[in-house]
Amino acid sequence: MTTPPGTPPSGGPSRSRATSRALQRASFLTSATRTADCPPDRGREVAFAGRSNAGKSSAMNALAQQGALARTSKTPGRTQLINFFAVDNDRRLVDLPGYGYAKVSSSIRERWQEGLEDYLEHREALTGLVLVMDIRHPLTDFDSMMLEWCMTRGLPAHCLLTKADKLSRGAAANALQAVRRQATRWPGTTAQTFSATAKTGLDEAWQKIGEWLDIAPQV
Ligand code: GDP
Repeated sequence: MTTPPGTPPSGGPSRSRATSRALQRASFLTSATRTADCPPDRGREVAFAGRSNAGKSSAMNALAQQGALARTSKTPGRTQLINFFAVDNDRRLVDLPGYGYAKVSSSIRERWQEGLEDYLEHREALTGLVLVMDIRHPLTDFDSMMLEWCMTRGLPAHCLLTKADKLSRGAAANALQAVRRQATRWPGTTAQTFSATAKTGLDEAWQKIGEWLDIAPQV
């Protein structure tokens, strides 16, 4: 089979379009605290992680073009859980619990960390991690820990530097360069700027997620 001239190897804009359509159909599937409670480990899934307040829920809602998709993860009782959203029978988005500002005891934090690490280490369906960071405070200790885990497992990570609308274009470009430079410590890590408010960076993110979920480009 020949590829039409000018088609980028990754599928280009047609894959980001197909992914945007697919994610519009995403819906809440289930919650889990341990790997044992997760849905069957088959198909493909892309997980989202981020320190509390980084903008993860807003980013997921913007990418799914659904105002309330990730609100599910914010309902009391669900904030310390891994939340699964079905895109279709074989594909899922996963909202991983964030921490940071919540004053939780160290034993809860340890349990949380164990559950998360277990999921990241062993989940075979997981094909990539989207790490959401506030562009003004990138690469916190939490972010470094996540990237470290990804590298250990050979899992690719994509840093979404969100709230880019809070910075001038030049400052946002500088922040992106700085993160890309630092991220060379974790091979397999890519980065982009994003804004859920201004709806910028969506195509680039859809493209990456579409590659990881193996969504066929739309002709
Ligand atoms: P989460 O805790 O990581 O899920 O963060 P949220 O998505 O709830 O966002 C935290 C705060 O940042 C909220 O007040 C959002 O309105 C705000 N926020 C999220 N994304 C953006 C963005 O792209 N631009 C701006 N200006 N604010 C944002």
